[in-house]
Amino acid sequence: MKLLLVGGGGREHALAWRIRHELPDATLLAAPGNPGIAALATCLPVGAADVDALVLLANTEQVDAVIVGPEAPLAAGLADALIAHGIPVFGPTAAAAQLETSKAFAKALMHDAGVPTARASMHTTVRGARAAAREFGAPVVIKASGLAAGKGVVVALTLDEADAAIASMLEDDVFGDAGAEVLVEEFMTGEELSLFVLTDGTTVVPLPAAQDHKRVGEGDTGPNTGGMGAYCPADAGDASYTWCDGSLPAGIRHVLDTIVTPTLAAMRARGTPFRGLLYCGVMLTPTGPRVVEFNCRFGDPETQAVLTALADDAPLLRVMLQVARGERIDPVPLFAPARHVVATVLAAAGYPDRPRSGEAITLPTTGDGEWLFHAGTTRRDDTLVSSGGRVLAATASGATLTAAQQRSATLAAAVTFTGAFHRRDIGWRALARGA
Ligand code: AMP
Repeated sequence: MKLLLVGGGGREHALAWRIRHELPDATLLAAPGNPGIAALATCLPVGAADVDALVLLANTEQVDAVIVGPEAPLAAGLADALIAHGIPVFGPTAAAAQLETSKAFAKALMHDAGVPTARASMHTTVRGARAAAREFGAPVVIKASGLAAGKGVVVALTLDEADAAIASMLEDDVFGDAGAEVLVEEFMTGEELSLFVLTDGTTVVPLPAAQDHKRVGEGDTGPNTGGMGAYCPADAGDASYTWCDGSLPAGIRHVLDTIVTPTLAAMRARGTPFRGLLYCGVMLTPTGPRVVEFNCRFGDPETQAVLTALADDAPLLRVMLQVARGERIDPVPLFAPARHVVATVLAAAGYPDRPRSGEAITLPTTGDGEWLFHAGTTRRDDTLVSSGGRVLAATASGATLTAAQQRSATLAAAVTFTGAFHRRDIGWRALARGA
């Protein structure tokens, strides 16, 4: 078995670890990978967004399948190109990836399919968008429709803030084409869950839910980031999402019935079946779970927590390879969480606005049930140095969430590089409830 993993972040390091764990004899290539992945795979200097070079690499190396981590190559048609060459690929076609790459597309599909989500309207003019914001009233949410590296969402607490966000997207083009169309969206309240679902287009296999921590500061304060940490399993304080007796929790079953199944049916009906991993960002509102966003790939940093929380013998790769080959998922496994895991992100000074790179990193040794997943690291001569805003994810398991949080925070504190900082409260909502 020869596999090519596309990407070079913490999510891909966690995927590489899981591939090695489940398929120890496989030959694993990574493009471009990172210094953490290099311990598990052969890293090749091909960019994750270079579709032509990736297809050439997959052909030359005669890989059995390609596993795509990030959204950009999927948006650029990597899966389509690989399928055209007869190479199995885990990741949707560009048309199916629109569930993430166009919020306008996703919203219209959810509306047509009766999938619960925030009410919204689409606008290309400032005047229309501002009028819509006034119809909803503050708070109101303004979203760039296209891919904006997780930065295209403004939760506006006042109409002035909404007006400014609308102007920045439609007049000042801060997100370029991604902000040429904006969604003005109803503000929802409730706790959020990230639910990953593997699907062959029809059959769905959920992974245990996780919760991300988007704000830079403890207690969920300060600016939004790509994610400062995550824990798994998460139930957002709703017992119907709690794994207790080895069967699928009723809350997750409800999300599958009301959100995932109708979305996949609508994608099939459009002739663009979604095969791969559907990331459902849901908010548990007073009227039930509603979609905040879809992503067309594994989330980061949730993946670091979810994949390590799975039982050692969970057949994740078997399912992913069936999906990649265009086969039915059979038999359908149940992925109950086997342990609690907390992933704490180590960020660089200045993150998220202007992260400082190039700091030499010293890593502690990891024990059983501890992982240091590399995200923004590189090698300069023989030294490991920081190369991004989110540098590492200090990930640790425990028999309880409290134990996992303590181990993860201790591991994070043992990593040193100038300016490093991390949140010590990943999982705080669950812990505050006495989970
Ligand atoms: P997104 O990139 O669409 O996931 O949005 C980023 C974050 O903005 C989400 O994780 C939510 O915390 C928040 N958000 C997005 N849409 C809404 C909404 N309609 N109501 C309240 N908060 C939202």
